[in-house]
Amino acid sequence: MGKLPIVEEFYTLQGEGFHTGKAAYFIRIGGCDIACQWCDTKMSWKSEDYPLIEIEKIVENVLKCSAKSVVVTGGEPLSYDLTFLCQCLKNANIETFLETSGCYEISGKWNWICLSPKENFPPFPKNFAKADELKVIISCEKDFSWAEENAQFISKKCKKFLQPEWSQHKKILPKIVDYIKENPSWQLSLQTHKLIGIP
Ligand code: SF4
Repeated sequence: MGKLPIVEEFYTLQGEGFHTGKAAYFIRIGGCDIACQWCDTKMSWKSEDYPLIEIEKIVENVLKCSAKSVVVTGGEPLSYDLTFLCQCLKNANIETFLETSGCYEISGKWNWICLSPKENFPPFPKNFAKADELKVIISCEKDFSWAEENAQFISKKCKKFLQPEWSQHKKILPKIVDYIKENPSWQLSLQTHKLIGIP
């Protein structure tokens, strides 16, 4: 019932956002046409570079470890219909977390949706209401306005995070701290997996 191009799968701790520090099995799906300049997973852009794996096999791999939740990321995972993957994971009692730019309509039923909008290809409007978490990457000061632009469309329950772009980390972090102090509805997200050297 369907295959997906898989860049990598691994069991680790979620490094960023609301679920930071929790154990999760990561499934990175290949294919992304957004081309963020600072993308840290450029190797995932071309789906044709990766093997197509049966969805049942992907779920089988998850169940081989003690994972209770899965993070589906990319690439841009919404380049594919994820309905069947979500259904299979749900049937196996695995919680499903999605990391997406939201540029295409959301498919599948998720326990948690993290929307990380990208200026090159802004989110599909209906996706804002479905987001549990808005995570905006800040690489320079103008990104604060981009964050606010997106925040006006989210629901009241949605958590708001600002995350420094890794290569600008040291330079931009003090500005993010100041911004959050002035705008306390936002929280800081750090890429803690990179800080502690895990995948
Ligand atoms: Fe990279 Fe994500 Fe941007 Fe795609 S959306 S280019 S995977 S950072």
